[in-house]
Amino acid sequence: ATQFVIDGLKAEIEGKEILKGINLEIKGGEIHAIMGPNGTGKSTLASALMGHPKYEVTEGSATLDGEDLLEMEVDERARAGLFLAMQYPSEIPGVTNSDFLRSAINARREEGSEISLIKFIRQMEGKMKELEMNPEFAHRYLNEGFSGGEKKRNEILQMMLLDPKIVVLDEIDSGLDIDALRIVANGVNAMRNEDRGFLIITHYQRLLNYITPDFVHVMMQGRIVKSGGPELAQRLENEGYDWVKEELGIVD
Ligand code: ADP
Ligand code: MG
Ligand code: MG
Repeated sequence: ATQFVIDGLKAEIEGKEILKGINLEIKGGEIHAIMGPNGTGKSTLASALMGHPKYEVTEGSATLDGEDLLEMEVDERARAGLFLAMQYPSEIPGVTNSDFLRSAINARREEGSEISLIKFIRQMEGKMKELEMNPEFAHRYLNEGFSGGEKKRNEILQMMLLDPKIVVLDEIDSGLDIDALRIVANGVNAMRNEDRGFLIITHYQRLLNYITPDFVHVMMQGRIVKSGGPELAQRLENEGYDWVKEELGIVD
């Protein structure tokens, strides 16, 4: 079964340490949520895992089924089964959504076993229907002129087609209205299985009404300072983060 272990991960941006030792273990079938105030390093964690060049990992490891992702090139990480939906997905003018998706799928396959165009189109159209996406989005340039909600839905489309082992979703709920939130959550729930683990980063508890996490972690000042079950998210929604700071003696 899939096992993803982040061990003692430290990372810095422009010489400033942001992640101060993250430990987290996600098994296939589990959904973990990370919540935390703004600026605590949640997106930095996602970017460090994906290998964004701006973020320098100074210590620790992130192993997927025993292989350290942090020692791999970005494209190798994806091939190993890591998928990341960014908080701010980038626009790629000149590359259509469908071309992008097909090359991403093929990049995960062995040479000579590329997906056929017909099979790819059939899969893409099926998933787009599930996500209630307008078919014209297949032919639009990647994320160019997409609304916030359309970008997020498109990230979920990518996830569904790429069939990853570990899914990291950074604020996939931000900018979504209730209908889009439900569709995105249904997409995630449909992908839930024993071989896939999820790390859902969110600022708000709202998403967790639709996707029930097994574990909720609170991140503050670059560390996971508290872990619990879904009830922890509910308490944060009701009472904010101050009580966590008081309980742990965190001064900011
Ligand atoms: P969160 O996602 O929890 O809101 P981030 O990981 O985006 O937090 O940011 C954590 C800290 O790192 C913040 O103090 C932020 O200002 C800083 N930071 C993030 N990205 C950059 C960057 N590209 N350049 C400089 N500082 C950054
Ligand atoms: Mg933020
Ligand atoms: Mg963020």
